[in-house]
Amino acid sequence: MTDNIIEVKNLTKIYNEGNILAVDNISFEIQKGEIFALLGPNGAGKTTTISMLATLLTPTEGEATVNTFNIRKDSKSVRKSIGIVFQEPSLDSDMKGRENLELHAILYGMPKKERRDKINEVLKLVNLEDKADLYVKNYSGGMKRRLEIARGLIHEPEVLFLDEPTLGLDPQTRRKIWEKIKGLNQLNITILLTTHYMEEADELADRICIMDHGKIIAMDTSENLKKKLSGDIIDLEFEKIENRIEFPQIFPEIMKIEGVRNISLGDSKNNQETMPMNINLPANMPNINPEMIQARMREIMSDPKKLLNAWKKFPMATQMFLDAPLEAKKQIAKLFDDNLLEQVPDSIKTELIKIKKGDYSEEDTDFEPKISISCEDGGKQLPLIIQKINKNNMKIKNVNMHRPTLEDVFLFFTGDAIREESSNRIKNIKKFIQMRQLRK
Ligand code: ATP
Repeated sequence: MTDNIIEVKNLTKIYNEGNILAVDNISFEIQKGEIFALLGPNGAGKTTTISMLATLLTPTEGEATVNTFNIRKDSKSVRKSIGIVFQEPSLDSDMKGRENLELHAILYGMPKKERRDKINEVLKLVNLEDKADLYVKNYSGGMKRRLEIARGLIHEPEVLFLDEPTLGLDPQTRRKIWEKIKGLNQLNITILLTTHYMEEADELADRICIMDHGKIIAMDTSENLKKKLSGDIIDLEFEKIENRIEFPQIFPEIMKIEGVRNISLGDSKNNQETMPMNINLPANMPNINPEMIQARMREIMSDPKKLLNAWKKFPMATQMFLDAPLEAKKQIAKLFDDNLLEQVPDSIKTELIKIKKGDYSEEDTDFEPKISISCEDGGKQLPLIIQKINKNNMKIKNVNMHRPTLEDVFLFFTGDAIREESSNRIKNIKKFIQMRQLRK
């Protein structure tokens, strides 16, 4: 008899359309009462894994049990044992919060009296009692997420599956959802969540399973994962360079230094973002929450009419566009057809036309490299590292040495996380815009 509530053995999924190996022979166990996070970039195979465990997808190979029930043979019992909150919003906006829950309870065949009590109980759990009789279309993103969690809990599942529970939410709301998830776990509900936010896995999970390209790369507590990267992490930021291709040529020299184990390369402007767009805010904006401004900027940047308005009214908005990263500009360029372009101020129009014509490529733009070096006894090796860099005429802008974070662990294990991250940014922008449209 084990305490495992989920057991996964050699699970594999190949999507026939396109012959994609989405999940590649993975095995793991989750103990009753754990919060277990599948952490990985977009396309790592997290949603596919959770969908197989929820019996929404049939595995190509392998086995799994949830609450002792086999996912292939006893899907009905598996479904009764789990609550699931999908990545994509799935509430009916034209119904009230309570009605959404009512519908779900009816689908689960719950008798009327039991239904009323249970709905009140789950509403209380997610602090939505006083909003239950509002239409969902009037809910904020965070309220919708909480209602979806409440819905997943109505039939008293043993395990709650949360697929990217805070995707697209602002940092404050995200934190509130984290508190709710922790609270549910204290009620002895086992939680399996997927996320590509490292801080989310770090904050919530008892154990983290890092996935990439369908495989498990590492699995342990956050603490132990960090310990595996003993030593120090040295982050070096450089002045702008024009040719990003030449830059890694100094890597072999640094790798020769005693104690250096790994180097990962990024761009200090664009690296490791969790928000969909990175727009540099002007300095000297006291008393204004920068996250609020970022959120507002993202809203404006997905609507050409609002953008036109902002450019006409605020010179600062024009400057912010000119300073924005190429990917953000490319997203904006897509919003403007020839007619709309005519209304755009000249300095921006010239830039948008160049982007539309494909005059810019990633390599042409300025690159502010940042490298992270995993190294034993960093304090001792740092002067040597700097010497090597100086010899190569690279200009260091900033040096920072710290103990490994989960982010370092991720980079270390997945290696090419920078490439994944930057493609994530584009996907995230798309998702963010899609979600906004869905919410309307
Ligand atoms: P995300 O957070 O973006 O959903 P993920 O880690 O959950 O990422 P999956 O959605 O499981 O990843 O996707 C894993 C791989 O399988 C990706 O290459 C994806 O393009 C592919 N894939 C997912 N669903 C399908 C499908 N229905 N048909 C074909 N390929 C698919």
